[in-house]
Amino acid sequence: MDETRRVAGILLCAGSAQRMGFDKLQTPLAGKTAIQRSMEALVAGGVTDLVFAVNDGTRAFVEQLRCPLPRRIVRGGDTRQQSVQNALRAADCHIAVIHDAARCFVSPQIVRRSIESAIRYGSGVVALPVTDTVLRQDEAGGVAVVPREHLYRMQTPQTFRYEEILRSYALADGSATDDCSLYIAAGYTPRFVEGAEDNFKLTTPADFARAERLLTRYGTGFDTHRLVEGRRLILGGVELPFEKGLLGHSDADVLTHAIMDALLGAGSLPDIGHLFPDSDPAYAGADSLVLLGRVVDALAEKGLRPAHVSAEIIAQRPKMAPHLPAMRERLSSVLGLPASEIALSATTTEGMNDEGRGLCISAQAIASVF
Ligand code: MG
Repeated sequence: MDETRRVAGILLCAGSAQRMGFDKLQTPLAGKTAIQRSMEALVAGGVTDLVFAVNDGTRAFVEQLRCPLPRRIVRGGDTRQQSVQNALRAADCHIAVIHDAARCFVSPQIVRRSIESAIRYGSGVVALPVTDTVLRQDEAGGVAVVPREHLYRMQTPQTFRYEEILRSYALADGSATDDCSLYIAAGYTPRFVEGAEDNFKLTTPADFARAERLLTRYGTGFDTHRLVEGRRLILGGVELPFEKGLLGHSDADVLTHAIMDALLGAGSLPDIGHLFPDSDPAYAGADSLVLLGRVVDALAEKGLRPAHVSAEIIAQRPKMAPHLPAMRERLSSVLGLPASEIALSATTTEGMNDEGRGLCISAQAIASVF
């Protein structure tokens, strides 16, 4: 792209949030708000300046937001159209990238394609072809099929040459729900850029559930400890009656250790050896459930929380099945997860391997965090 070309990202953060009962734009999703996520996508997609259209509810948040580019903050209007108009007036650019902050899963690639299209053709309006069958019901109850071939669902960003969109807004009357409609009314023909299903607008609680699924991350963990005489056997925070126990610096709870590493992996955090080193006397004989609680805290600091844990104990003896419900109960209270989201199982190795010969007990786990 031309170095001297100014591309202003206009981020609409002024929509009323009342429909959700809380501010959807300022609620952290895995540690980042919709406003931050949208801003980062615009920046990564190639804008050179930012204009935030805010309301009284979002102004303070946007003012303290760390922004890597020159930015202006303008007052949004009562309608989307007024907000865009105010932002356009404040923008000093060749290309205007108008984006709803609530579409916070837009990819930088889509932003970039819409900018390139606007440079070349005057506009780059992100839209998706309709793939579902569409029916229209009239007032009398009659139903007709609407041919879907030429139907599009509009998304954002909607990107335009600045002069053209400014002129479209100057000619506008009434209140349009998107910029493209005004652009067409002003006599221009928009050029579409293909959007994505993930580029949805956070509007309803179901959208937040969808956002959680998109942001879920996974990790795996594995641990082994030696079985010796004279130690207690603790698994999942539960002491099992057995003639041997696991050897280790802490209480050697392999199951909890494997789960901790899985959670840390899902959160892209350093592993337990790094967090709770063997060399640190503070962890001698440590209750691993307390350490697990610290892992949950470390995730919370990143805006993450456990979503699901599945773990398997590998041991020849003792029989694990009778103890699994108690382990699940204890893990559930520390993880802050319902027991239904903690799956525990156990297997022998049929007398083979070190587990099978009773030399050790191992555990493996997979965890997801949101
Ligand atoms: Mg261990």
